[in-house]
Amino acid sequence: MRVLLIEDDQMIGEGLSYGLSAEGYSVDWVRDGVAAETALHNGGHALVLLDLGLPGGDGLQILRSARAAGIDTSVLIVTARYGLDSRIAGLDLGADDYLVKPFEMRELLARMRAILRRRAGRASARLVAADTELDTETHALCHAGTVVVLSAREYALMHALMERPGRILSRAQIEERVYGWGEEVESNAVDAIILTIRRKVGKGAILNVRGAGWMVPKP
Ligand code: CA
Repeated sequence: MRVLLIEDDQMIGEGLSYGLSAEGYSVDWVRDGVAAETALHNGGHALVLLDLGLPGGDGLQILRSARAAGIDTSVLIVTARYGLDSRIAGLDLGADDYLVKPFEMRELLARMRAILRRRAGRASARLVAADTELDTETHALCHAGTVVVLSAREYALMHALMERPGRILSRAQIEERVYGWGEEVESNAVDAIILTIRRKVGKGAILNVRGAGWMVPKP
């Protein structure tokens, strides 16, 4: 799942990139207002983490113009601005949630999961396909009675498929969800991850659709 991180602080940006990657998110990190606007307009992100104090544009202004332009990507504001007025302004301008720095990584991750659940119209932390369940909190995958905890990449790939059982994802679509900008992707990387998942829980967890890609069957 692809996340746009808008953050000018080097240390926080590095920490978040590292922490989010370890959770299976692919992170595109931009550090100023201009790059943020471009990235938002290019789209492709499931969620945006938006700092407010940025060089080249205030975060609230960026959010305002994105919403005015019809960009409806989920936005979680992550900022040191703790004032009530700022929090209300952020939410009323179209942010989905607002988290004040400093924060615990665990809370950020939980808030992100909550936003993504709401976005998908789910209340439960579990994604369900036929004979397969993925826990978005623990990253445990259960298929036909076998339970394993997936690595970050395996989780990212499985999550992409299980978001919508029955939908076929091509190699390019999977790569886009699992890898961030500028990441080197080996030509057989997707096959390698799928092979590992199948070895762990069984071949039937992911179905090949010849010439089109991969899917998980509907419940
Ligand atoms: Ca800042």
